[in-house]
Amino acid sequence: MKTIHSKDLNSRRDFMKFVGVSSLFAMTPTVVSAETIPHVVVVGGGFAGATCAKYLKLWGGGSVDVTVIEANPTYVSPILSNLVLNGQKTTSDLSFTYGNLSSKYGINMVHSTVNSVDKTAKTLTLANGNNLKYDKLVLAPGIDFIKTNDYDITKVPHAWTAGEQTNILKTQVDAMVDGDTFTMSIPAAPYRCPPGPYERACVVADYLKNKKGYTNAKVVVLDANANITVEADTFGAKFTEYGVDYRPNSSVTAVDDSTKTVTFTESGTTKLLTATVLNVIPNQKAAAIIFTAGVNAGNWAPINPLSYESVLTSGIYIIGDSQATGQPKAGHIGNSEAKVCADAILRTLSGVALYASPKTNSACYSPTSATEASWLSAVFKYDATTQTMVAANIAAGGSESANYKKMFNWSGNLFADTFA
Ligand SMILES: Cc1cc2nc3c(=O)[nH]c(=O)nc-3n(C[C@H](O)[C@H](O)[C@H](O)COP(=O)(O)OP(=O)(O)OC[C@H]3O[C@@H](n4cnc5c(N)ncnc54)[C@H](O)[C@@H]3O)c2cc1C
Repeated sequence: MKTIHSKDLNSRRDFMKFVGVSSLFAMTPTVVSAETIPHVVVVGGGFAGATCAKYLKLWGGGSVDVTVIEANPTYVSPILSNLVLNGQKTTSDLSFTYGNLSSKYGINMVHSTVNSVDKTAKTLTLANGNNLKYDKLVLAPGIDFIKTNDYDITKVPHAWTAGEQTNILKTQVDAMVDGDTFTMSIPAAPYRCPPGPYERACVVADYLKNKKGYTNAKVVVLDANANITVEADTFGAKFTEYGVDYRPNSSVTAVDDSTKTVTFTESGTTKLLTATVLNVIPNQKAAAIIFTAGVNAGNWAPINPLSYESVLTSGIYIIGDSQATGQPKAGHIGNSEAKVCADAILRTLSGVALYASPKTNSACYSPTSATEASWLSAVFKYDATTQTMVAANIAAGGSESANYKKMFNWSGNLFADTFA
């Protein structure tokens, strides 16, 4: 095993030896690092991590070396992935690679999994056998799931990370015949993308009813929360229109993947349901590396919202779904947090005070059918008294066909700001 610092990656040839030759790296410019150039390592190349790396280089230029360590060579966006279920999109349409980050911004891409963090030596241990030194570490690893029991997610998919899981659920939905039941569960908040599960119920119900023409297919929603958590009027009206059987206060306690039976408590009473397609979205927590690094408190990672630096370990920053500010766990705001974090790291490296009034923005467009979408937006401002991010402005738009078109403009801009 070899420990490598960015100053050791003195040439494209050295870096290729370190990461292994890849088509992504073939597009990267030569990396020439002086010993004094600080090395920022970003773990995770999703909406939060990729944006942070890009803006560190956009704003920091040659003053900083940036390496992204991402487990997968291709990122499949969970945003818009419910549209794979009704055939409006494919997972290929939602796939992004990292060539632009390398070729346009000079970011070192390493495709491996970070297994552990040595906070004293400031090194990471990678699954590919190498160690990597960092000066500042950004953790942007997304979420993990808290399953009720050890069932097979290829039989009972969550499809709450996009890619293979999405395609499994799509295949199962397509195999349904009239009279079959699609039963899904919604996790207890906080979870990734507050409107996302309600959006999914609408998209699937519309698909079965209006595209497949089924008059007797059922959609059942078991919601661990007391009410529809966001856009309640919009989703409530759509559930009525589609005849969705919506059951609040219904928490999953066990899953049987062989019979597609879910056990749950509904307002305290234990019940069982058997479905044709069972889509359990489990409760969620920060991804594993947050716990391995010891920067969690409970299920999430507490940070200083002025910088996203861990309140438990200096020099480690947490952005995106893993952080614990109370801001929604969503890609748009993860992109926003990433810019605050990149700015804070560059200021800290330059000995400049942190910006004292950061704002972030969240936006979610929710398809409610193959032709309509709603939206929800919130601006968060730093409150110096409570030292928290507070919602300053929340707005929403109902289910309309005009919003369906705007959804693709919005997502296109977000995808480009992150990966292009
Ligand atoms: C159906 C659905 C619809 C959605 N719609 C919206 C929407 O309209 N608007 C919105 O803002 N958000 C939406 N979201 C939420 C959004 O997709 C997530 O909040 C966002 O992806 C989180 O970004 P992230 O960078 O924190 O995590 P991720 O996107 O999960 O990225 C984390 C990355 O880290 C990598 N990784 C993890 N651990 C390691 C490790 N140890 N080593 C190396 N790599 C690692 C993973 O491979 C992954 O690529 C939706 C989600 C779903 C499921």
